[in-house]
Amino acid sequence: MAFPHGGQPMADGVARDAADAEANAVVDWFLHPVLMNPEPSEVASIETLAAAGHTSIKVFLSFRRFDRNVDGYLRAMQAAAAAGTVVMVHCEDPAIMHCCGAALAEAGLDDARYYPESRPVEAERISTERAVGYCATTGAATYVVHLSSEAALNACRAGRARGLPLYVETRPIYLHLNRDRYAEPDGAKYAGAPPLRADSDREALWAGLADGSVSTICTDHAPWTMDQKLDPSLKAADLRQGMAELEVMLPLLWSEGVAKGRLSVARFVEVTSTQTAKLFGLYPRKGTIAPGSDADIVVWDPTATRVVDGPSMESKAGWSLYDGWETTGWPAVVLSRGQVVARASADGTRTEVVGAPGQGRAVPRRRFTRP
Ligand SMILES: [Zn+2]
Repeated sequence: MAFPHGGQPMADGVARDAADAEANAVVDWFLHPVLMNPEPSEVASIETLAAAGHTSIKVFLSFRRFDRNVDGYLRAMQAAAAAGTVVMVHCEDPAIMHCCGAALAEAGLDDARYYPESRPVEAERISTERAVGYCATTGAATYVVHLSSEAALNACRAGRARGLPLYVETRPIYLHLNRDRYAEPDGAKYAGAPPLRADSDREALWAGLADGSVSTICTDHAPWTMDQKLDPSLKAADLRQGMAELEVMLPLLWSEGVAKGRLSVARFVEVTSTQTAKLFGLYPRKGTIAPGSDADIVVWDPTATRVVDGPSMESKAGWSLYDGWETTGWPAVVLSRGQVVARASADGTRTEVVGAPGQGRAVPRRRFTRP
């Protein structure tokens, strides 16, 4: 996710983060430019970026700047439709969040347990419905990132039933945890945007993953340390959002999904690899095992058991939301273009990265076509 800094164009943010990835990435990579200012030059750059292989942009409907310039963002979605660029949308309504956050602050309800009240389901539902409407209006392929609630999922189901090019991603926390967690003494560590929801939402997302109305699962990996997450100066509505999920996403999805009979092995592969490659212009170079495709392969051990232990993982976070969880199904060996880049340690307690920083390559992407 390449954020332009301080009013820079999207292309500058991409160039900056590409230099970082070229030096450090162990596996192949691409970047999503973030559209912060939909002024005419930035809208025009959507085609230029697409021609260079950057065929997605991210838009935050959750930022107040979005409501100040909906016209500009709609022009950007029209340009994206013409360029074959996927528009990734973060759907939470800023006015509702501002209203709820102010009410909590006025009532002195600053504890992390009130975090979900600051970003209610209604904020996600109404924003998702707007995104569905903008998708219908502009024809841009629209990808709803980290969807968390049944109400928002149903809004997308209705759009998909109309044949819109609309896709839904969810994220591990919404499948494995519920909002009761915020009442724990260190509840702030669970803050994500959107927040954790009710068990009925969790079940709806599992059903959506199985029936195809959820297209993909992705981490939104944000490796804050525990001290950063539990910063006592942060009030309920301003908690630091995001968490490290990269190393546990697949094992938890296998353990809670496939091993418990909620998800088929085929859907496990589709939602973590094949569908993602198709939606983001990588297929069939990525997302399948076939002659001519890159040999990016995970050799999966479906019976390996391990206790999640954040401190022993590679992430700079140094902890995991799932520390102590007993899980089944871990990668044995990971290959990138045929070379081993990670493998289970000899004692089977952790996964070791053995690839070299910089061996990953940029992958230019094709323009969007419907999968
Ligand atoms: Zn987001």
